[in-house]
Amino acid sequence: MKNFNLNKIIRPNILAMKAYSSARDEFKDASKDLIFLDANENPYNNGLNRYPDPQQRDLKQILSQIKNISTENMVLGNGSDEVLDLIFRAFCEPNQDNVISISPSYGMYSVLANLNAVEYRKSLLNITDFQPNLDDIFSKVDANTKMIFLCSPNNPTGEIIKRNTLTEIVENFDGLVVIDEAYIDFCDEKSWIYELENYPNIIVTQTLSKAVGLAGIRLGILYARKEIISVLNKIKPPYNVNQLTQNKAIEILKDYEKINAIMQVLIEQKAVLKQALENCSFVEKIYPSDANFILIKVDNANKRYDEFLEKGIIIRNRTNDDLCENCLRITVGTEEENSKLIETLTDLSRKI
Ligand SMILES: *Cc1c(COP(=O)(O)O)cnc(C)c1O
Repeated sequence: MKNFNLNKIIRPNILAMKAYSSARDEFKDASKDLIFLDANENPYNNGLNRYPDPQQRDLKQILSQIKNISTENMVLGNGSDEVLDLIFRAFCEPNQDNVISISPSYGMYSVLANLNAVEYRKSLLNITDFQPNLDDIFSKVDANTKMIFLCSPNNPTGEIIKRNTLTEIVENFDGLVVIDEAYIDFCDEKSWIYELENYPNIIVTQTLSKAVGLAGIRLGILYARKEIISVLNKIKPPYNVNQLTQNKAIEILKDYEKINAIMQVLIEQKAVLKQALENCSFVEKIYPSDANFILIKVDNANKRYDEFLEKGIIIRNRTNDDLCENCLRITVGTEEENSKLIETLTDLSRKI
């Protein structure tokens, strides 16, 4: 971080480029009763005939109150997937730059790297505790390494990355450290969004898809310093978050107590599930989880996956992921779904 220089990280064409200026960017005073004839919209009101706010100001305002962070530190996108793609396009020169990610981790980083013709370097987690191997990560860094992706809590392993490990990486890497906090609300660990003041080179992503329960509307949030935000605003599609998504997100986020209550139920249900897994004969290991899923190692993942499927329960077979031989990932469901799962676990356990 000591030699972090944002202008050196940005692709030259992006640094030089001027943003597309949409009608709604050029004139946005909605306070008066005005006649808008500037965007070739259909004037007949059906609730959705106007283009949405390209800066999603009302939605950012609510997020700002919930997270206690300025709206100026946010970019919203069509799911985390879109904001992650934006940072590849802003910072990584195709066929030249590279990024590093821990492995196993979320599959989208390598998909986006491939899509953008950016070399993807995997650094295996320590097999003992599924924490990043710092020496290995730093040995993979070179002059063209633009970003390091760290998913915390990590998917599919479930555990948070230790704070001092992340600090070490952020402080000793001169590129951007992208911390994917899709599952942060399920644990007590403090978010890295509150470290933006201390570190100019972090990008934190969150999503409404998991704890908030809005995977269907597609809303991802990227938090960073203002300098980074302005680069991303320059290149994002102007109307990337549609009006229906903005409306629904505002409606649901207004009742954050309800979201918290459901999260508590899921955390309790995770404990119930963990207990049941401990009594299960074919489960060899239960990995610690700070998220809304549990990764387990079983005797034979393919066989157990099929058995659950036969009972109508779909889990995720992770046996082909690095370090995850015979591992299954189970999402915490409703109390009812969990009971059915536990019943199946007990049945299958008896058969041995
Ligand atoms: C589920 C998940 C996301 C969410 O992506 P969206 O596009 O916002 O739905 C992001 N990162 C990780 C690690 C996830 O597991």
